[in-house]
Amino acid sequence: MSLLVVGSVALDDVETPFGRREGALGGAAVYFGIAASYFVDVRVVGVVGADFPQEHLDLLVSRGLDLSGLIVAPGRTFRWGGRYGYDLNARDTLYTELNVFADFDPEIPAEFRETEHVFLANIAPALQLKVLDQVAAPETASLDTMNYWIERTPKDLREVLGRVQIVLINDYETREIAGEPNLRKAARTILGWGPRLLVVKKGEHGAVTFGPNGAFAVPGLPLETIIDPTGAGDAFAGGFLGCIASTGDTSPEGLRRATIYGSAMGSFCCESFSIDRLASLEPAEIEDRFRSFRDLTQFDHRPLLVDV
Ligand code: AMP
Repeated sequence: MSLLVVGSVALDDVETPFGRREGALGGAAVYFGIAASYFVDVRVVGVVGADFPQEHLDLLVSRGLDLSGLIVAPGRTFRWGGRYGYDLNARDTLYTELNVFADFDPEIPAEFRETEHVFLANIAPALQLKVLDQVAAPETASLDTMNYWIERTPKDLREVLGRVQIVLINDYETREIAGEPNLRKAARTILGWGPRLLVVKKGEHGAVTFGPNGAFAVPGLPLETIIDPTGAGDAFAGGFLGCIASTGDTSPEGLRRATIYGSAMGSFCCESFSIDRLASLEPAEIEDRFRSFRDLTQFDHRPLLVDV
């Protein structure tokens, strides 16, 4: 099984209360692809500039990512700068230098056009539609987006929402897209537009998956070490869709499992700057983390007040 991701490949300058990193390997397609690579073969479509370090390319290849769709264009790589305070759920974007990403026009290589699962990371909805036009009826198409597109291109966004089965966004985005402050009602509105599943990521507060069988919620794992949450949402998506692509299981049980693997990959992402931790995991560590989520959340109902 293969999973295609189309999105940003970046150099990030990140500052958190625990340190700073310049020119670090980042971008939505990178975090997503590395997280998913533990579960399935991953194909990347994106663009970098001539300044993109070879060591970053080597790292991606070492994780088994197929980079045939990653163009190296003349110019500079997309660069993003962000700063976090002690509330790691809130960050300031210091700058977004699109550079070669400004002219990104995704061309899906012929050998990628039949990929079974497609993830449209956070890019212009018009480009997400262009990707969908180039792939042959994938089993699942999924997307992420951000406030910039929700506010500037709502019509395109509605169109692409009608063509994907899975949406993975954060709680603010869910409320903003639906124009509805109540999360459950907002989810119902978005699911009414076509997608079968909506996964709402809530940073350190976990995630909720809404689907035809109701909602499944998982809390955030209280981590010992949190260094940098950049990319955690994309790593979540990589674990979630990697699990679904690997098992093909979208039953209620399968979705719960995918939500936990997604949460596990998101949690690892926060434990270091860039992809340092995410890219160097042993499969047993991922399974251990899955068990930690189970231990954190498992409980039985033994009625105390009245026998029901
Ligand atoms: P997240 O923390 O999940 O929002 O992902 C952060 C990653 O997204 C960083 O590595 C950035 O390089 C990348 N990023 C930030 N802004 C954008 C944007 N406007 N378009 C695409 N990728 C972005």
